[in-house]
Formats: sequence, C-alpha cells, structure tokens
Amino acid sequence: MRATKPLVGIYSLTSCEGCQVSILNLEEEFLKLCDLVEIKHFPLIKEREYSGKVSVAFVEGTVVRKEEIEKLREIRKNAKVLVALGTCATYGGVASIRDFADRERVMKCVYPDPMFLESIRNVRGLDCYVKVDYALRGCPIVAEEFVQLIKDILLNKKPMLVEEPVCVECRKNKNICFLLKGEKCLGPLTYGGCNSVCINEGRPCYGCRGPLKEANLEALMQLFRKHKIPFSEIRNTLTVFAGTSKRYRRGVLR
Ligand code: SF4
Ligand code: SF4
Ligand code: SF4
Repeated sequence: MRATKPLVGIYSLTSCEGCQVSILNLEEEFLKLCDLVEIKHFPLIKEREYSGKVSVAFVEGTVVRKEEIEKLREIRKNAKVLVALGTCATYGGVASIRDFADRERVMKCVYPDPMFLESIRNVRGLDCYVKVDYALRGCPIVAEEFVQLIKDILLNKKPMLVEEPVCVECRKNKNICFLLKGEKCLGPLTYGGCNSVCINEGRPCYGCRGPLKEANLEALMQLFRKHKIPFSEIRNTLTVFAGTSKRYRRGVLR
C-alpha cells in the first residue's frame, strides 16, 4: 500500500509571484521534492484550487485588499504550520512602499480609472493578521532554503535559518566593504542567507531580507550622516522592502 505523503500548499496574496517562480526554478530539485510531499495548491502551475487541510502552507505576498484577510485566515485555519514566503509576506515588501507616498497620486499615476480601487491603508507582514510559524526571507526567496525548511518541518527538526547579518557572508566572500568607500550598504542591518549575492556582483545590499532583530539602525545612520549620504536617499532605501516593519519605521519616519 502506498504511504500517504504530507500535503503542502503554496498560496499567493498580492505579490509579483516571484517567490513561486523561484520554487519552479529549482527544476530537478523541485521534482525530487514532489516525491516527498504532495503539493495540493500552487497557483502558478495548478489551475484547480484546493481549500482543504495541509501540513504546511507557504503564503507568498501580503494583504492589500480586505478580502485577502479572510483568505489568509482560512489558510491559517487549514494549516498545521504556516510559513511566510518571501519579504512581502514577512514584512509587507514592495507593496508597502505606497504607505510612504501620496496614495491618491500613486493610484492616479498607475491606473487610468482609480475610482473602483479598493485597498487597505497599511500594508504589513502576515503576522499582523495570523500566527506565522516561520519566515523565509528574501525578495525573492532563496529556493534552497525553501527545500531545507520543508524537510526540517516534516522531520520535526528545528529549522536553522540564518540569523546573522549579510556582512558575515560578505566578509567570508572577501568583498571590499562599501562602507569603507563611504557608500551606502544595508548589510549590517539585514538578515543574511543570500550569500551576499549583490555585493559579490558589485552592488550594495538594499536590505531585501529584512531588518535583523538586533539591528543597530542608529549606528549605521550616524555613519551614513558622516559620509554625507542624504537622508532622503537613506529613507528611500529603507522603505523598499520593510519600511513598515517595526524596526525600520523608527528610522524611516522620523
Ligand atoms: S518577496 Fe519579492 S519576489 Fe517574492 S512575491 Fe514579494 S515582490 Fe515578488
Ligand atoms: S559591503 Fe555591506 S554587507 Fe559587505 S561588509 Fe560592508 S556593509 Fe557589510
Ligand atoms: S545582499 Fe542584501 S539586497 Fe542582496 S540579496 Fe542579500 S539581503 Fe537582499
């Protein structure tokens, strides 16, 4: 008799769906994963919706429309474990930028007829609405972390998510530090796990994996001020991925 595989659902709220694409980009690894679990819901590849129980629900994107609150609560109710998939789900992500802009102006610029638009005022991470058990950070996620997390959850192992700043990986990769050159880099404030991919390619960290629990925002702001980096520029950088998170709000809004 065939053993029943654990059921997994990948759900999507308002997002660019890039985290789902990252999962598909696993290719062979994704097929191997399908031998271990049964993926019941995955909007990018499955037309039919599934609204039953799952062992693990991964939720990409965040709540931007009121009806998404109910959808999220339903997913939570049906899942033993709920994982925020990506930075939108963890911190609000790029959709939260508009909380720092003139909303009416943004709507007019983007939509020819914004009269019928309905969206909530404050865009936040999913933990504002439901209990989130784990968060896979990144915009997009690192797909290998996704695979590892599923395996750890199913084996009842404590997931080992990276809790150190990007700087740790950056130093291991022997990059020349942007801060030493007087340039802006959010590596010291940001969770690692991306292997400092941007810095390796010659670009500073923009903080896509979100603000570290122990982030010393004030110390980095002082350094930026010393390097005469305009506050408007710092503010814009902080608002890209996690501006509405508690840890950045203080630095962004003052
Ligand atoms: S975290 Fe980034 S890649 Fe993932 S859905 Fe949000 S915007 Fe897209
Ligand atoms: S370049 Fe950025 S990530 Fe790398 S060590 Fe310097 S501050 Fe940290
Ligand atoms: S270096 Fe920074 S911006 Fe680039 S992937 Fe890592 S956390 Fe994201």
